[in-house]
Amino acid sequence: MKVQQVYLASGNPHKVRELQALADADALPIDFRTIHELGGMPEVVEDTGTFEGNARKKARAIESLLPSGAWAMADDSGLCVDALEGGPGVESAYFAGPAGDDGANLQKLVHVMKSTSSSARGAHYVCVLLLLDSDGGEFVFEGLCHGTLAFEPQGKEGFGYDPLFVPNGYADSFGLLAPEIKQALSHRAQAWRKFSGWFAPRSV
Ligand code: IMP
Repeated sequence: MKVQQVYLASGNPHKVRELQALADADALPIDFRTIHELGGMPEVVEDTGTFEGNARKKARAIESLLPSGAWAMADDSGLCVDALEGGPGVESAYFAGPAGDDGANLQKLVHVMKSTSSSARGAHYVCVLLLLDSDGGEFVFEGLCHGTLAFEPQGKEGFGYDPLFVPNGYADSFGLLAPEIKQALSHRAQAWRKFSGWFAPRSV
């Protein structure tokens, strides 16, 4: 069986780890490679205003670096908060400023949501996985994960806004829940499942 090389167009080690765990769980004939092997993630200005557009820019930024036959996959994701009219959304990584500091972003979210009542704290994560194959084909897979925001950060699992995000059906945040639960429920897992369903018949 042919093993497909796929380079992840992300310098975010948390995303790479979660995608790798999802790939391992499905035992697909995919050899995930990190962007470090190609000299690191090129600078990409995420200015398209959509998750899909930003994912496309990231995947296209590594296209010319790929070894022959290899594919590229990019993840663009973020948190959309109902009370913030969908924000920070595509700006999630830079909510507290251009430094892209996860801790500062989380504290800012705690602060701006502190007077929002329990009944108005709905939010959802979005993940777009965009794949470029070696024939120039482009394939987009989107996943959502709905939940509510706690008032204070809880736990240290996951990354980013996870200590504040309580997925529907649970009482604890992704910061407290076991990584296996996030791996089953998350926006990344939902997008991954769509990708996996697309890839599996092509790999036989
Ligand atoms: P991107 O690298 O431009 O896609 O930005 C993603 C940002 O969205 C991250 O820096 C986090 O702030 C947030 N984010 C995306 N996925 C997750 C997740 O699974 N948990 C927590 N925060 C996330």
